[in-house]
Formats: sequence, structure tokens, C-alpha cells
Amino acid sequence: MSLAVNIYYCSSCDYHQSSMSLWGGHEYVLPNGIRLPIRKVMGWCDTCKAVTYIENLSTATRISDYREAQRGLYDKSQSGMLTGIWSQSKHNASITNRNLSSMEDAIDAIEMLTTRQSPPRCLKCGCTQVHVPESSTLLHQDNDSHRTWIKHPDCSGEILWREDDGGLRIAMTIPTQSYTPEGELIARPEESDEDSFDCIKPYDDASESNIKIRELIRAAWAA
Ligand SMILES: [Zn+2]
Ligand SMILES: [Zn+2]
Repeated sequence: MSLAVNIYYCSSCDYHQSSMSLWGGHEYVLPNGIRLPIRKVMGWCDTCKAVTYIENLSTATRISDYREAQRGLYDKSQSGMLTGIWSQSKHNASITNRNLSSMEDAIDAIEMLTTRQSPPRCLKCGCTQVHVPESSTLLHQDNDSHRTWIKHPDCSGEILWREDDGGLRIAMTIPTQSYTPEGELIARPEESDEDSFDCIKPYDDASESNIKIRELIRAAWAA
């Protein structure tokens, strides 16, 4: 995968940083081993003194994840009924499984959020001294404006973004970092040596391992 490098900079002072510090996936690992994608928003962290990703702990976001997967399932089942070949297609079966898995992820996430104690954390350093743009401003975000709606607390300027001048793109495998349901980091890629490198997993391993764990849970119910 190759990613474009953006520069985040302040409208009022000479602060700037590269988007490369934001790259990477983030997931919660529940006590039963289920891995859930972390929903996040870009914001400012007082400890990192940088633009970072901050946990989004909104249940509304998870409900909308559930509805989206449900719609995906419904759309596919309708088109399957029309063509009559739905059940024979391996590809369609895998889309169905993915949607069902996303719906279960959303429910597990909502359950997790009901017992969550800690306020949202910075996904880089874990601190809770963070600032995120008001969701009402994000609703009116104009994609071309290069605004982030993030205030730079040190000078009251606003963080803006632009593409790297040289059109730089970097090829890399995106690592995923794991967190407890309270948002505490379990493994940091930069702290891992070669031997423990298997704590970093590529993005979509989760759905397959979640399906296996849920099969075991259902088997225990039936026993
Ligand atoms: Zn500034
Ligand atoms: Zn931080």
C-alpha cells in the first residue's frame, strides 16, 4: 500500500508535522479475545503537543455502523431473491458473513462502551488531555478547504493541512495497535523487537478470528 504524505501546519505560528505520525490501525481487544475496530477522530493532544487520533466513544457512531451493515445485508438478500443465485455464490456468502460480523462488532462495542470508565484518550500516548473539534463544525466540513477545525492551543491558530510539496508517497504495511476496552495500549510497534513482532497485526485479520471466537461462544450456549 502506498500513502500520500500530508503536512499539518498552524495558521498562526510555524508549527508543522507530517501525517506519517498518524498512520496505523487501532483496535480494542475484549477479555474474550474479540477484536473491535476503534472509531477515532483527529484532534490535539496536550501531551504529544501534536495532531493525533483520539478515541470516539459515541454509541451513535456504533449504531450507525450497525445500521450500515444491516443495510448491506438487506440489499444483498433482496438482489439474491431476484436472481435466485444468491446461495450459490461464495463471494456473496463472504459479503453476508462480513456484514453479520460487523453487526456483532457494533453490538459488542456498544456493550463495551456502557462499562467504559475513562474519558477519550489520545491513541498515541494514552493521555486524556485532548481536544477534538465540535461535531457540529465537522458536519459542515468542506473537503476542499484544507481545514481540520482543530485549534492549536499554544497560539489559538487553527491547524490546516496540505499535500507534501513533492507529492511524496510512501509504500508500507499499515500496522495495527491493540488497546484494552479502557483505551490503554497493549503493544506498541516501535517498542517491539523482531521476536515479538507478531503482536502487530494487519487490519482485516480481526473478522476471521472474531468469527471463530463467536462460534465457540455459541457452542457454549448450546451445550
Ligand atoms: Zn500555532
Ligand atoms: Zn498524546
